[in-house]
Amino acid sequence: MTTTSRPDARRNASPYLYGQEAGAVARVLGSGQYGHTAVTEEFERRVAGFLGVPDAVAVASGTAALHAALLAAKVGPGDEVIVPSMTFCATVQAILAVGATPRFVDADPVTLCVTDELVLEAVGDTTAAVIPVLFGGRAVPLTSVRDELAGRHIAVIEDAAHAFGSRDGTRRVGASGALTCFSFGPIKNLTCGQGGMVIPRSPGEADMIRRLRLLGVGQSQSERANTTTYRVDGFGLRYQLSGINAAIGLAQLDHFNTTEHARRCLWRAYQQALAPLDGVTLVDVDADHSVPHLCQVRVPHRDEVFAGLRARDIGVGVHYPPNHLQPAFATWRRPLPATEQAGEEILSLPFHQHLTETDIDHVVSALGQALNASGGA
Ligand SMILES: *Cc1c(COP(=O)(O)O)cnc(C)c1O
Repeated sequence: MTTTSRPDARRNASPYLYGQEAGAVARVLGSGQYGHTAVTEEFERRVAGFLGVPDAVAVASGTAALHAALLAAKVGPGDEVIVPSMTFCATVQAILAVGATPRFVDADPVTLCVTDELVLEAVGDTTAAVIPVLFGGRAVPLTSVRDELAGRHIAVIEDAAHAFGSRDGTRRVGASGALTCFSFGPIKNLTCGQGGMVIPRSPGEADMIRRLRLLGVGQSQSERANTTTYRVDGFGLRYQLSGINAAIGLAQLDHFNTTEHARRCLWRAYQQALAPLDGVTLVDVDADHSVPHLCQVRVPHRDEVFAGLRARDIGVGVHYPPNHLQPAFATWRRPLPATEQAGEEILSLPFHQHLTETDIDHVVSALGQALNASGGA
């Protein structure tokens, strides 16, 4: 058994700060304005510029982004939304939040993403939207789906929570014209501490989400300041991104080139170090185009290997236990063989920017030992 424990290898994921974040937060605190402020709006403009899109709407979380996008796409009760079972439960909860029902679909065994074929065979009379999940950061083009659904009032809403900065061909994810949702949670490629962003398809959609995120209140703050009341125009929630969080995101965005390069290098270092291990398959995130979010492998005797790595002080995880097998989503269960098999084999290795090549060698050597000790071998 490996004797020395390496602290950074004990964490599966971890935010990486560049040093300017604390000062940026302190400036917002000093300003006395903590809610939706000019800092939030600057973050929106900077993200839009970075992605090459006309507009971006900041919200409180990735889950809020998905919920807002589904409402903007007018998905509601009686509608079915096609969603891969292999995603974080947030994607499914957002569908339930609008009163729609999930139609779980299987995943490609190599990428763990949905494919054109998997989506098209699930489209039915009540399908109102499809939510491809850009698993591990990988773009999911779904070219045939987009052609097929154009003009049929079926929205494509990309769950790009893993994929901030990734490219779909030459464009950044978010710039393809689909409604796109990002998460800036603590461990995502770019963090605001907590936060999210919707890339709207039209100015009308952007407007709707901007009202929704401020409890449906229509007036601007300066309009409100001069009246004894305020006007509620429609349904809304407290979904704004605070300036405190936006300041963290702005500081992170200044260094995103470094993030992008570092995450790609780490993923390739794992790819090289894992190559000699028999029985280990790396889930391919297309690191030439993506900003990798996870380093996932498939292994035999996963539960034993998981326990062996934990015993060796390695921060392993599982992304994710399939949603169609979750008790809360049992109503919509159907057999999804590739997802079920993946659910028993996947293992996420520590993946964050604090890791060094020595940490990676340490993780891979512990994985080799855990594999050798598993399965009664
Ligand atoms: C993180 C995540 C979300 C939700 O984002 P939060 O910011 O945590 O609300 C949604 N989908 C996927 C695939 C995620 O990984």
